[in-house]
Amino acid sequence: MCGIVGYIGGRNAGEVVLQGLKRLEYRGYDSCGIACINRGLVVKKDVGEIDEIEARHRLSRIAGSPGIGHTRWATHGGVTKENAHPHVDCSGEIAVVHNGIISNHEELRRKLEARGHVFASSTDTEVLPHLIEEHYRGSLEEAVRRALAEVEGTYAVLVISTREPEKIIAARRESPLVIGMGEGEMFIASDIFSFLRHTRRALPLDDGEYALVTRGGCVVKSLATGEVKRKRVIEVEWSDEEARKEGYPHFMLKEIHEQPSTVASALKIYPEDVARLAEMISGAERVYLTGAGTSLHAAMVAEYWFAQLADKLVIAIDSSELRNKGVLDAGTLVVGITQSGETYDTLAALRYAKQRGAKTAAIVNVIGSTATRIAEHVLMQGSGIEIAVCATKTYTSQLTLLLRTALELAKLRGGDVEALEAEVGSLPGKLARVLELEQEIKRVAEQHFDVSNYLFIGKGINYPTALEGALKLKEISYLHAEGMSSGMLKHGTISLIDENMHTVAFVPAQGENRKRIMSNIQEVRAREGRVIAIASGEPVAGDACIALPSCSEELSPIIFAPAFQLLAYHVALKLGRNVDKPRALAKSVTVE
Ligand code: GLU
Repeated sequence: MCGIVGYIGGRNAGEVVLQGLKRLEYRGYDSCGIACINRGLVVKKDVGEIDEIEARHRLSRIAGSPGIGHTRWATHGGVTKENAHPHVDCSGEIAVVHNGIISNHEELRRKLEARGHVFASSTDTEVLPHLIEEHYRGSLEEAVRRALAEVEGTYAVLVISTREPEKIIAARRESPLVIGMGEGEMFIASDIFSFLRHTRRALPLDDGEYALVTRGGCVVKSLATGEVKRKRVIEVEWSDEEARKEGYPHFMLKEIHEQPSTVASALKIYPEDVARLAEMISGAERVYLTGAGTSLHAAMVAEYWFAQLADKLVIAIDSSELRNKGVLDAGTLVVGITQSGETYDTLAALRYAKQRGAKTAAIVNVIGSTATRIAEHVLMQGSGIEIAVCATKTYTSQLTLLLRTALELAKLRGGDVEALEAEVGSLPGKLARVLELEQEIKRVAEQHFDVSNYLFIGKGINYPTALEGALKLKEISYLHAEGMSSGMLKHGTISLIDENMHTVAFVPAQGENRKRIMSNIQEVRAREGRVIAIASGEPVAGDACIALPSCSEELSPIIFAPAFQLLAYHVALKLGRNVDKPRALAKSVTVE
């Protein structure tokens, strides 16, 4: 959540920082601001969208360097101009942007006020510039280190000062920060995507580190000891072009349509890493697959694959609950699933698991992200950048990699999965056929999504499909939807069904679960509920049916995904929602 950008070099920082902030918009924010050194300190900030603030204050025209910028997602203090970052000290010489939460800010603020500091905002962040001012004895670096030693909580911070105008100090604890290495200029941001158009050479900071960044390079040190750290620069493969809409009206739609190729690539990539994960799972007494939101649903689908294909019990668990429910010891393996690699709860779960002596692995999309640095083994998703807040192509890539891991484990254990393995190769083609149904799906969205409440039901491996389908609809259309296993309907929820509650049912092409869900559909229709079936194979009689290519039930969660994603997309579009940036949501949830 929130975005941080810094620039130091020969260009005017205002423009570079603003461009960088625009690239982080997808993360979600409510206000933004920039501070630059141009002899004195120039600070401009306000509430609202970047483009509006740019029109009002001309942030891009701020000349000079270095500069720092911020998109805020308020945690402490209302959404006001005063609370927007950057924040400055009393002298107006030190400026700070911060992502995270300073948990002891009240106590620090009291102390600082007692020493005469005057605060201009009600944020937790503002204690930082005052604390740095308090500790300043001629070295900004030292003052930042001393200040951060007093701070509890989480942070990624950038600090500039007119007293030492040739540097930016960047530090992190549990919030992401990556340095981009240019030629005679340097970039800093919450993620590499922000500076990808300028450089593909990146140096991610680790927890407890800070960097002294000048035009010519950077030195990374430990916050605790001040010792210099040896760091490795990574070359990023993603290209800047991937980040354009390429004629699609929304990133979400473009990303939905990329799935035949992202799944094709997820079917091939990193065979050794898949095999290693399968071995780790095989060797562990207990396995937790943990994630939040869509990643948790991918984990829940995989629970079925591991059980059905490889006879192995793995448990999918909400990463914010692992600490409460997990049995963690040296015999446990925790696999964190996080697209961004920065999801706070999933990182906290991985860290906690490590502390308890468990083994850790991660399935991650973003190169150089924190999860890739915490986990012992990493399986990269390789889905390309996903810009829309709502996860689509990264879900099917996670599923594909988890399926491959389950198939690998099945083979390790002598299982016969040849037929399914052969069928897996047909997935990209089948996904392309699902996408060809877009106009039909749009019609269903326009004709049948006319009430405020929906149920999504699925059976067996499509129970998590129902959860994910409901989540997509909720997050971008703001309509209420509840996902559940169809077997649970009669244990309470069925009493809600009437003509104002519609049901989306996922029907596999064959087998017992097809029969079962068909009778659930009858139960709903008998109570006046309208049913929208999403069926693989033979169409289903009902109020509406989206008929998808036939496939084995085991593979159906992957085939169903683009159908319910398109459904949610077209419902949201019809309701005039901000599809790529739904209200109150952020792409990577970096706070607890
Ligand atoms: N806690 C800070 C604030 O509310 C920073 C929030 C953020 O990460 O954007 O201002």
